[in-house]
Amino acid sequence: MLKLFTPTFYAQNIFEITIDFYKKNNIKVVLLDLDNTLDSYKAKTPSERTINYIKLLKENNIRPIITSNNSGKRVSEYSNALNVEYLSSVFKPFKHRLLKKLNELNINKDDCLLIGDQLLTDIRCGNACKIKTILTEKIVKEDQPTTHINRIFDKPLRARLKKCGKLNNWKENQ
Ligand SMILES: [Mg+2]
Repeated sequence: MLKLFTPTFYAQNIFEITIDFYKKNNIKVVLLDLDNTLDSYKAKTPSERTINYIKLLKENNIRPIITSNNSGKRVSEYSNALNVEYLSSVFKPFKHRLLKKLNELNINKDDCLLIGDQLLTDIRCGNACKIKTILTEKIVKEDQPTTHINRIFDKPLRARLKKCGKLNNWKENQ
């Protein structure tokens, strides 16, 4: 059971992950969760640090794709402000829509890394797709109401993964 939710790596937040890490792990495409991974769900426009991080990825030929369960308008406006590709209404943890999109875009899933703040959606989806994952902490306190129920399960599950030594810090793999 624990295996379904075990991330490949763990990071405090996305912004600490270095380009060297992506290069060393042969990551060419980064599938980025939006809400509480890049910015608060309330943020209509990207923060300065997100703008800079996306720029850094692109400069290093790492392709960022925002991969969100949130709906079209929210995701498209935010992503367009960053001039970055996006997939909305992905229905994580279900794998079908994401795998279909990657196939359409001719992306090899072995080149991908999915980064997100939720075990039940992001990490479960990555594992179902057999895509490498990084679990992060949420970057702001507030969640959108639909996420509250997931957090009830996320918190003890996260604690258990930590206790069992399953949270493999990215810093030890760079
Ligand atoms: Mg999220």
